[in-house]
Amino acid sequence: MTPSLPRGYHSPQVDVEVRLNTNESPWAPPEEFRRRLADEVARTDFNRYPDREARGLREALATLHGVSPECVFATNGSNEAIALLLAVIGGPGRRAVMFTPTYTLHSHLSHLSATEVLATQRAADFVLDPVTVKEAATVDAPDIMFLCLPNNPTGTLDAPDVVDAALEGPALVLVDEAYGEFTDAPSAISRVGTANVAVVRTFSKAWAMAGLRLGYAVAPPEIVSAMVERGLPYHLDVVKQMAGRIALDFTDEMKERVSAIAAERERLSASLGELPVTTWPSAANFILFRPESPAGRVWERLIEHSVLVRDLSLHEGLENCLRVTVGTPAENDRFIDSLGEVLV
Ligand SMILES: *Cc1c(COP(=O)(O)O)cnc(C)c1O
Repeated sequence: MTPSLPRGYHSPQVDVEVRLNTNESPWAPPEEFRRRLADEVARTDFNRYPDREARGLREALATLHGVSPECVFATNGSNEAIALLLAVIGGPGRRAVMFTPTYTLHSHLSHLSATEVLATQRAADFVLDPVTVKEAATVDAPDIMFLCLPNNPTGTLDAPDVVDAALEGPALVLVDEAYGEFTDAPSAISRVGTANVAVVRTFSKAWAMAGLRLGYAVAPPEIVSAMVERGLPYHLDVVKQMAGRIALDFTDEMKERVSAIAAERERLSASLGELPVTTWPSAANFILFRPESPAGRVWERLIEHSVLVRDLSLHEGLENCLRVTVGTPAENDRFIDSLGEVLV
């Protein structure tokens, strides 16, 4: 167990034709969604504060997941949900455990809340085994334990028994399911009623609304109440509440996008298999790969082809790795063709 260093979060926003670096959806939500949102926006009393408790949105999310609205808290991106959970559970004298490499915001937000971070390195295949997780949960006895299912940036999906293993300790188990919609695996949301689990989800990925900044936590009601106390009043604006609620009426379209992305991911993964790179199986909308030549140079040369991927090569455990988001079929072709030229 080694404490990790605080690190900022930055993904460069470079002006290129093919942007495959931040795991956004390549397709926007449907036109009908835009039309309904525009109608509601046109009828909004912008002089009034929004519904402070975001009841309509929370009820719609509760219905989607088959939980009570008291268990749902909507936030400005799921990052805010993580920050508020840390405000409740973390802080000076509290400890968080995480399994690296994982989403860097987990350690970054822990550090910002003065929560001590204990990081356990994943094995070379990045897959967690329940024995390691149980040991960290019980021996380190943290206050909060982070899991990321599927895991960003590796794409790998740990089996549901890692959640059971995490629950062997005293910690609140925070399961980040930012990519949960991309898998058929059962969501940890089903455990919220009976175990010390909080799940965070986002509209930024499968829901194709990264620009909206909307996420939510599903957690035991007493934790939700504590998050509400620590959040700012009227923190969720009126347009965001509407957009989230209306988006949930287009769940079938979301699922269609997810299937198309999963099919493209498999095609991309097969194409990568023919190039001199190592890849890991992904259950999300991106693929981690390690070229045999220097990653920094590959990243730069892809930019020369107007293709932007994520350079993770300086992160511990991700030496020489890059990550590509699954785009449209045309974008993926462009990426594969460019990578093929760069790697010769
Ligand atoms: C993208 C991502 C998020 C989403 O953050 P938002 O603030 O909702 O945009 C959360 N967790 C992980 C692991 C992610 O990759």
